[in-house]
Amino acid sequence: MASFRDIVGHEQIIRQLQNGIRQKKVSHAYLFCGETGSGKRLMADAFAKTLLCEAGGIEACGTCKSCKQAESGNQPDLRAVVREKASLGVSEIREQVTSDAQIKPYSSAYKVYIIDEADKLTEEAQNALLKTIEEPPEYAVFLLLATKREALLPTVLSRCVTISFYPVETGKIRKFLMEKRKLPDYVAQNAAAFSGGLIGRAILFAESEDFFNLRQDVLTLVKNIDAFSMAEITEQVKKFAAQKEILSDALNMMALWYRDVLLYKATRNVNFLLYSDESEAIMARAEKQSYEKLQGVVDRMEQLKQRLKANVNTEMALELLFLFMKED
Ligand SMILES: [Zn+2]
Repeated sequence: MASFRDIVGHEQIIRQLQNGIRQKKVSHAYLFCGETGSGKRLMADAFAKTLLCEAGGIEACGTCKSCKQAESGNQPDLRAVVREKASLGVSEIREQVTSDAQIKPYSSAYKVYIIDEADKLTEEAQNALLKTIEEPPEYAVFLLLATKREALLPTVLSRCVTISFYPVETGKIRKFLMEKRKLPDYVAQNAAAFSGGLIGRAILFAESEDFFNLRQDVLTLVKNIDAFSMAEITEQVKKFAAQKEILSDALNMMALWYRDVLLYKATRNVNFLLYSDESEAIMARAEKQSYEKLQGVVDRMEQLKQRLKANVNTEMALELLFLFMKED
């Protein structure tokens, strides 16, 4: 389980939570709001672990009984609400939160409830929760995590301190992947660039086999497009069109490769390339096509990414794109 020191970025949020602990002004309810993968759960875990730590400091000590229990998922004063259905209903909230909150902590000064996906709470469940957070036991802290703030009732929101999670600088993500996850720099750099500043997404990209395979497919396409016959182009179109849910990621990867080509063409420097392991192919492409052409390719990729959200004929759109890439 994470401690504050393990978190990448979000320095201001950590400072705010630590100040609350230091000044003994911890609120009873917080809403952590941000996109999936933005680090809400890691922050909730770190905050809970710190509140429950026997040392009572602003950073979990990592060695006391409570910290050890938190690490192994057995801290009795830390409760994570489990969702079994599509929504989080009133019975789950009563069983796992509101009744339980009346029981004093076993061994800590606080009792912490983490309600992940709080935007899945039914209105009834939110009202049940509201009663408890309006008159909370002094030791109780509720951490609600949500992607959509508007899914919560105004009455619930008014009782919560809202903390918004924004994307983290990709440089910090890259450093984290290299230092903490021991990933080679080109993998870290790629994953950080594709993550859009979402650490969870970066880890997924950096360590998932699907992502690695997609990257290989993209490289095969952009490096060999000139030599492909019409039949091979059709084959490529079918291959990418079939991966609908990650097609937008694939287009991103292609566009970033072409951005590298443009960057190299302008600077003649390989040190800034995102695909640093692909400099030869990038240099070759830079020699072959004009700025206008390369920029045109990037623009078309961006446009197609937008159009995928609408009802576009994917195969036809990809074929047009690939044929445009192939021309001089
Ligand atoms: Zn501790």
